[in-house]
Amino acid sequence: MEQLDHLPGSMECVICHGPHDYRHEEKAVPTAGPGEVLLKVHSAGLCASDVACYKGAFGYWPGDGMPGFVQPPVVPGHEFVGTVVGLGEGAAEKHGLALGDTAVSEQITPCWNCRFCNRGHYHMCQNTEIYGFRQLAQGAMAEYMVFPKNAINHKVPESVSIDHAVFIEPLACAIHAVDRGNIQEGDTVVVAGCGPIGLGMIAAAKAKSPGLLVATDLHEDRLDLARACGADLTLNPGQVDVIDEVRDLTEGYGCDVFLEASGHPAAVDQGLRMIRKLGTFVVFGVFKEKVTTEWSIIGDRKELDVLGAHLGPNTYPRAMELIGSGALPMDRIITHRLPFSQIDTALDLTAGGAESVKVTLAPGL
Ligand SMILES: [Zn+2]
Ligand SMILES: [Zn+2]
Repeated sequence: MEQLDHLPGSMECVICHGPHDYRHEEKAVPTAGPGEVLLKVHSAGLCASDVACYKGAFGYWPGDGMPGFVQPPVVPGHEFVGTVVGLGEGAAEKHGLALGDTAVSEQITPCWNCRFCNRGHYHMCQNTEIYGFRQLAQGAMAEYMVFPKNAINHKVPESVSIDHAVFIEPLACAIHAVDRGNIQEGDTVVVAGCGPIGLGMIAAAKAKSPGLLVATDLHEDRLDLARACGADLTLNPGQVDVIDEVRDLTEGYGCDVFLEASGHPAAVDQGLRMIRKLGTFVVFGVFKEKVTTEWSIIGDRKELDVLGAHLGPNTYPRAMELIGSGALPMDRIITHRLPFSQIDTALDLTAGGAESVKVTLAPGL
């Protein structure tokens, strides 16, 4: 391994041992094998999926006759940025990276061999290895991490501050969700939920020249951020009837595209009611509860396109460009930078949502 400077033998990190069991520990510093990259982590973000994993949510852990996705003990963290400090044999050429580069790696490390990978849908890889959940893709809540040889890595351009680059991952996801919405010029677009993903969607949707871009959230400070990201109009469902408002704004038709980023069952119901016939409804939110709604609206009444969105395939370069362009008030979006020892606080802040937007952890604090 070609390396930048002397590396310590051990490092501090967070280790997920199971639901409600994340510990601040010491671990050996990993090394980069052939084709692999060693990164000195600058910061790691938390998101709803980290909270869901911590809380033992369905899908992450075995239950209901389904195997779990998580392989403990594992270092969490799939949103991150850092500096390249080690390159295994052939890694520099393979990934276009040099020692000292600021770099990110897409959250999924595909197998490049399954049906999905072979057809260009690598983000849906059947043998999915997502950083922070799986043994083969240890995450970023550590001083150092390895990008496995199958990873998709990007050098972060100088236009993006290393402090802001931790937001590339969530923004890449938001851009993919907006792409799924297929916004046409002049459309009325509603983004439900102004957390990190919703704010990213607003900035990405703005670039598609919608006629009216509406954001909804229960928190006034988040609505303020939504306007800073490009929302033309913000609505608080706690104060107004958002369905009536959107219908009034569209001559009674409803919005053309509805992007769900709140994870609240109520937003799904509102979305199905405020969207016009033949509209496009995109689901990104991670839901804590099951959603109950008038399902027949989708077919019998409106013939909707209801689409899911997962991860950020082919969108990292655009996410870097968007951050570099200054389209998002990054210093207000990244609200917290805490030491690894405060992982529990970081998870609480992310779960609560009222006092934080993007919570990050960083080594050496
Ligand atoms: Zn995430
Ligand atoms: Zn695959």
